[in-house]
Formats: sequence, structure tokens, C-alpha cells
Amino acid sequence: GQPAGSVLKAQQITKSFGAFKAVDGVSIDVRDRSLHALIGPNGAGKTTAFNLLSGILAPSSGEVTLAGQQVAGLSADRIAQMGMGRSFQITSLFPDLTVQENVRLAIQAGDPLRMNPWIPAKGIARINDQAREILAWVGLAGMEGAKAGSLSYGGQRLLDLGLALANHPRVLLADEPLAGLSVAERERVGNLIKQVSADIPVLLVEHDIDRVFNLADHVTVMNEGKVLLDGTVDDARASDKVREIYIGS
Ligand code: ADP
Repeated sequence: GQPAGSVLKAQQITKSFGAFKAVDGVSIDVRDRSLHALIGPNGAGKTTAFNLLSGILAPSSGEVTLAGQQVAGLSADRIAQMGMGRSFQITSLFPDLTVQENVRLAIQAGDPLRMNPWIPAKGIARINDQAREILAWVGLAGMEGAKAGSLSYGGQRLLDLGLALANHPRVLLADEPLAGLSVAERERVGNLIKQVSADIPVLLVEHDIDRVFNLADHVTVMNEGKVLLDGTVDDARASDKVREIYIGS
């Protein structure tokens, strides 16, 4: 078919902490309609790379573009407004608010006109419709009135994904979304991410290589701050270099 366009592109990004380069000249190209996994053993630099892409950290050098726009050095909030959806291992939920309230807040937080109380940028009815759609998507329909903190850990991860998707981002960055989940929950969250990636490309950061091999289309393997391999799941499976770093860790 048609070659998919590049949505999120990092070129030669580096992050130094003193003399130490946690990320050293890394390039990642996340394309349309792809589930792209960023994997590597502990200490490889995955979290630092994730933080460089989302704007939590500014790169020491290199470029990051989101849908063709430069984002390196901008604030995480600004980058989120430009279409970077983020889902964290530590969820960004308000545990004492209901599921519905959490989703409504996320929708309103992404609405650039929200700060002006005189302009109802999105009517309440529209926000409620959008919230319903998101909750149906993540499989939490019927849980609107439950306190977010009362959901199972898997339920909280699903809600967190819903919040990240609330404003239809151009790309979804997900940091170890399967970590700490039961087998059944992993299946559910994994399927959802796969489904999401048909519409919104996903960059999935994951330590466990086996978990992503069944999900991902494309894999970037990092080791010691550098890209060790960039290719298909089959490429990664067949690579002796990749096997070695995982056995060594
Ligand atoms: P991963 O997510 O793949 O486990 P990290 O990005 O967390 O890897 O860390 C990569 C390396 O960078 C590790 O050696 C870590 O100790 C180091 N590192 C990460 N953050 C900092 C920091 N703020 N200051 C100094 N070193 C750091």
C-alpha cells in the first residue's frame, strides 16, 4: 500500500546529564497507522527518550517534529496542545473525582478557549457526548459515577488511556501501559492500544520484549543510550545483538 507518513520524528536527539549521555544521537520515526515499540533493557535510555519527545526534558541537541512542526525545547503542555497525547505509568487521574469528571476535565483542559469564562467553547452537551464516546472506547461505559480511585489498577490504566485520547491527539506516547497488569487486563489494554493505533499512531515504551512482539508493527531497540536496531518485529526477533543485550541484562 501507500507508504505511511511520518507523524513524530526525532533526529539525532541527545541528552547529557553532566558528562553522561543517557540518550546519545537517537533517531525515531513514528509513522501513521503504526504501533511502534521503543524497547531495551533497564538503563537503555527509554524513559529519558520518552521525556525528550513529550517535552518533560529538553534535548541537549537534536530535533523533534510533531506533524512537521518543531517541538524540541517547548513545554510539555504546549507540546500536548499541539497533539502529543501522553499516558503515564503513574496515572494522571484524580482518584477522588468520578470517572466522568476525570474525562470531562481532560476534554476541557485540551480546549484552548477554556480560560475565558465568557466563551463556552464547548457546550456541556457536547462535552458529555465526547466523554461518553471515550468511555465506550476504553470499555468503561457504565462506570461514569464510580470514583476513579475505586477502579481496579487495570481499570485506572484504561481510564488514563481515555484521558490521553480525550482530545484526539496526533500521536499517543504510552509509557509501559502493560506493566503491573494481570494477564486478562494486559490482553484488554493491549487490544485497545492495537485498536487505537489504526487511527492514532502509538509509540509504546516497554521493558519486556515479549509483550510487545505480539502487538507492535515497528520496533526501535535502545541500548546504552543508542539505537541498537530499528526495524520490524521479525528483524528484532532474528537479531543476535538484541538477544544478547536481553540475556545480559
Ligand atoms: P530506561 O528507561 O531505559 O531504564 P533511563 O532513561 O531511565 O533508562 O536511564 C538511562 C540512564 O540515564 C541510566 O543510566 C540512568 O541512571 C541515567 N539517568 C536518567 N535520568 C538521569 C538524571 N536525571 N541524572 C543522571 N542520570 C540519569
